[in-house]
Formats: sequence, C-alpha cells, structure tokens
Amino acid sequence: MPEEVLRQAAAEMLDWHGSGMGVMEMSHRGKEFGAIYAKAEADLRALLDVPANFRILFMQGGGLGENAIVPMNLSRGSVADFVVTGSWSVKSHKEAKRYCDARVVASNADDQHTRLPDPATWKLTPGAAYVHVCTNETINGIEFQTLPDLAALGCDAPLVIDFSSHVASRSVDWRRVGLAFGGAQKNLGPAGLTIVVVRDDLLGHALDICPSAFNYKTVADNQSMYNTPPTWGIYMAGLTFDWLLRQTEGAATGVAAMEQRNTAKAELLYGFIDGSDFYANRIDAACRSRMNVPFFLADESHNEAFLAGAREAGLLQLKGHKSVGGMRASIYNAMPLEGVQALVGYMREFERSQA
Ligand SMILES: *Cc1c(COP(=O)(O)O)cnc(C)c1O
Repeated sequence: MPEEVLRQAAAEMLDWHGSGMGVMEMSHRGKEFGAIYAKAEADLRALLDVPANFRILFMQGGGLGENAIVPMNLSRGSVADFVVTGSWSVKSHKEAKRYCDARVVASNADDQHTRLPDPATWKLTPGAAYVHVCTNETINGIEFQTLPDLAALGCDAPLVIDFSSHVASRSVDWRRVGLAFGGAQKNLGPAGLTIVVVRDDLLGHALDICPSAFNYKTVADNQSMYNTPPTWGIYMAGLTFDWLLRQTEGAATGVAAMEQRNTAKAELLYGFIDGSDFYANRIDAACRSRMNVPFFLADESHNEAFLAGAREAGLLQLKGHKSVGGMRASIYNAMPLEGVQALVGYMREFERSQA
C-alpha cells in the first residue's frame, strides 16, 4: 500500500470527513458510503480505461473464489479452455473442472513454467464458452507482455484474465478481454476485496447452482450491494485508485505513469541479476514479470545468510515461494524505485562479502 494512503486512512479512521463515523461504522446503504463507493467505481473505471459496455463489480472470495465463480457464471456447463502457465492457472483449471469440461489447451509445464507457449500453438476448442489465461503468474514470475488476440486466432470465445498480481501496473486492451478478475491485495488495497470487470453480454448465463451472491448479474443489478460489500476494502482501494490517478512520470499519468515506473524498476533488477554470476533468473527474457522477480543464488548454501542480511537491511519478504525455491522480489506498484535500488545495493554488497 502506498504510505500516503495508509496515512490518510489513519487520519480518517475515527471520523470520515466530519461525518462522526469511521468507514467501518457506516451502513453500506448510507449516503456517506454511497459517495465512497461511487468515487471508487468511477476512479477505477478512469484508471483502467474500462469501456462503458463493461460492468465493474466489487466482490468477495478472492482470486481463488473466482476460480469457481467464473465457470459457474460463464461456462454454461460446457467447455472452457485453459492456458496453463504457472501455479495460479494450474489452480484455476483444477477448480473449473468441478463445474464444466475444463480443458488444458496449452501448457508450459515441460519448460518448468519458464516461457509462455506461443498463442499460435494453442489447441483452442471451437465453441468453447471462454478461454482462461493468468496474465501474471505471481509465483513463477512470468507475465504476458501483450494480451493474446483470440479473434486473430479464429476464436470468438471471450478471454478471461486473472490479473490479480499486476492489475493497474500496466494498461489493459479491453478489446481482447471478456472478463478480468483479481484479488485487490497485491496492487490495489487490503485483502478481502475482489475486483471483477465483465462485459455486459456475459451477464445472465449462470448455472442454477451458482450462489445468488456470486451471480454476476445479481451483483451487477444491485451495484455490488446484493449483500454487504467489503466496505473497508472498497474504501482503501478507492484511496489507492485516487493516489494512482495522481501519479505522474513526465507527461504520463495514472497507469501509464505506473507502467513507466514499473518498467524502470524491473529493468534495474533484471539488469543487475543478468550482469552477475552470483544471481540468476530462469525466465525467458521475453516474458519476465515486472511485478514478481524470482531469482536464485548460484550457491544456494548462502540462502539463509542472504535472507538474514536482507532482513537486517529492512528488505523483507524476499524468500521465494516454496514451490519454486530461491528468492522472489515482489515489486508491486506501491514499491518505489528507491526500494529496488536498495535491494540491488544489498545484493551487490552481499555478493562482494562472499567473494
Ligand atoms: C494471489 C493470487 C491469487 C489468489 O487470490 P486469493 O485472493 O488468495 O484467493 C489468484 N491469482 C493470482 C494470479 C494471484 O497472484
């Protein structure tokens, strides 16, 4: 979370804008929360440049919840195609199998999830209800640099993207997307809020077994207030949207500014890793993630010393995911360039101290 957002939330914690209430004490149907909600929705639409024919839903259940909610709403019980590129899309495919004929149409498992399968090789199913792609594999550190153009592949199924871990770090080409979902906790706000952006025509096809609170049409028809929405999460994400919209880099603002900043951060870190024999990143350079940078020490017996020294330097949460091992630097939107400079400085020092 940006520090400025945390400070503002702290200042408003007991009394939001002179209302005599904190946000956690408000009715979600009152005019105060109504104003918070309307601004958050409008700001997110502006930030991500969401076209008018898409609905923005503020839900609960997280990315993993959406792994079930998407097939319940979109599959019509028929076929859904999955492009499996890492830990998260593996999970999405596995969960969807409970609701529809979920097929793996491309996979990079044989490459240990280190490169993306070329869309021209995907074995898409004619008539599939949708095609699922995780556009940034958080654990593996692999990211689509451009969204696949399904229409150009002769496929008219909507593309579903799990953009949990890079939402608002780069622009989205909505012409190529039918539905996007993401948990807010990586790049937008606290845990507990799930963002869904869905094209109008995909509403209203849910399976009978779909819980009403997770039926996209019900949620959309009730402005995400069919049941109590995650009000604190919406408020905090709203402050973050406002912060993001105010960011500038030269002439660029908002997400375009973040994209420049994130590119500079990633180039600095990957450039340093590639220039060193002490550290290595194993992902194909064409699809390296700007948000999640896994790396390994050439001699893994130094891992514990590396992490202990990092902690001492105030560099936290660098241990890699247990399924991949090594290290992982998650350099989300709120991480400033100075944070990456500090990490690279520490890595250089550590390397020197081991020589
Ligand atoms: C973190 C993450 C999720 C998990 O979401 P939960 O909110 O924990 O359910 C799903 N997909 C991706 C790509 C993620 O990074």
